Parts: sequence; structure tokens; C-alpha cells
Amino acid sequence: MENYQKIIEDIYLDLKNIDDVGKVADYIPELGEVSADKFGINMTTIDNKSFDVGNANEKFSIQSISKILTLTLAYKLEGEKLWERLDVEPSGNPFNSLSQLEKDKGKPRNPFINAGAIVVCDVLIGHLKNPKKDFLDFCREISNNSCLNYSEKVAESEKACGYRNVALCNFIKSFGNIKNDVDEVLDFYFYTCSLQMSCKELSQIFLFLANDDFITNKGNSIITMSQAKRINAILLTCGFYDESGEFAFRVGLPGKSGVGGGIIAIHPDEYCITVWSPKLNKRGNSYKGMLFLEKFTTKTASSIF
Ligand code: GLN
Repeated sequence: MENYQKIIEDIYLDLKNIDDVGKVADYIPELGEVSADKFGINMTTIDNKSFDVGNANEKFSIQSISKILTLTLAYKLEGEKLWERLDVEPSGNPFNSLSQLEKDKGKPRNPFINAGAIVVCDVLIGHLKNPKKDFLDFCREISNNSCLNYSEKVAESEKACGYRNVALCNFIKSFGNIKNDVDEVLDFYFYTCSLQMSCKELSQIFLFLANDDFITNKGNSIITMSQAKRINAILLTCGFYDESGEFAFRVGLPGKSGVGGGIIAIHPDEYCITVWSPKLNKRGNSYKGMLFLEKFTTKTASSIF
């Protein structure tokens, strides 16, 4: 087996002091408070060997990485009918774009752009008695981690100025693809984005997408193998918005970013790896995070291709 600890430490040292051309997201004021030089990595294999470096155990705002978790629960509850309300095509547009929705008549291109995740939240509200609590319980169960929580500060900070998401939700509702009250859907969406996790917690929670035999400590399987395969496929083609092609080209793994600076990537049947570095490139993806993963899959020759 590769010496993963040494490999991640070497790449960490290579990149730690490079000129980071990215910028911390500050359109959500609370995210702007995070120190720009945080840098952490965790890799966890499907047999639970875990390797850390840097700020790997510090919690941060997972933002759009939560879109995988909301999708997973909605897919589990709704089954294939989910795709009547959402597509599975790359958007080629920024994560918060409104323009394509008009042509597509309110059916978002995929679940990993904001429009898609907002529809997923609407689907979940239709199934769950207490959406925020039930979703959090689901996250805690699949990660076997009762310490997971939302950051009310971050959620309220986004709610106070999430004008684009408000526009998106109203626009989709005008086409009939949001069934519940717009304020309720947005409130739930902002809370899901505000989940706080460390790199290590993120690698652990996504092992169910790497491990075909995954069951929770309570003995439940989460989704079928076919559903996990499909989520990985959408991650590969849509996880980085209009930079998804570039991520597949440079890193070669299904993955997902968030504007908190986190990136998770999954190697089916092997491992999950998470990098956190808050400065984002122009497409809203962690600049150093992408570089790290490019070097990692190159050094370990472990992309899916
Ligand atoms: N909460 C953020 C938003 O809706 C999530 C975006 C992201 O992480 N790309 O703008």
C-alpha cells in the first residue's frame, strides 16, 4: 500500500506557501471572517484508515458540499421520480446562474447548482416532518457522528443577503417546480449549506459513496449501489459547475466543492479525500484544493481513468 501519510504531507509542504491567487468568499459575510491561510487535508480509506495534515480537524462551513447530502436523502425518499423535477446535465454556467432556467422552464440542469439544490430542498420538505431536524439526524446517522451541527450564524448571515437564491427560488416557483412556501424552502436550503464539518468528518460521511457494502452503525444501508453510482456520475460531470470538465481533466475523480473552500473527492472502492483552503478561484472552487488533488491523484496514479 502507498504511504499516503507521507504523500499528503509532501504535497501539503509543497503548496503551503505558494502564491494563492484565490479570494475568500465574502458575499456571505460570515464566510469572509475565516482566516485565508487555513489548509487541511484528510484522506480516509474504505477500511477506515485515516490520514491527516494541517487543519484537518477544524470545522468549517461545508456550503455546497451539503448538496450531495440533500440529494442523497431526496433520492432515497423519492426514487427515480426525482428526475422529473431535475435534470442530470452539466450546466456550463456559474453555480448561482438564473439565465438557463428561463430556457429550461424552471427545471434545473442538475442537483449540484443552487437552483437544483433548492428544488431538492423543496422535495425534502414534502417528505419530512421536521426538515431541519430530520436532515441533521440523517447526516448524523450516515456519519455515525452526533457532533454534526448547523451554524446558525452562517445560515442567518446568508439569509440576510442571499438575494440571488431568493430570486432563483421565486423564479422556479413561477414555473410550478417549487411546491412549498418560498421562505420555508430558502430557510431550509440556507441551513443545509451552513453545516459545519472538518476535513476528517467530511471524508467519513462520504464513505458511503466509495464503499458498495456500506451500512450505518444502526445496520441500515443508505442508498442502492445503482443510486450511489449515479450520484458519483453526476458529481463527476457537474460537481464543479462550469469547471467540472477542468476538475475531471486535472484530478479525475468525482468530487464536489463549496464556497467555504472545501472540496471532497471520491475514489470508488478505495477512499474519500477532503481538502480545505478558503481562497476560491474565479469559478468559486478552492484554488489550492484543486491543485492539491491534482498532485495527489498524479503522485498516487489513482484517478478513475
Ligand atoms: N450557500 C451558497 C450559496 O447558495 C452555496 C454556494 C456554493 O457553495 N457554491 O450561494
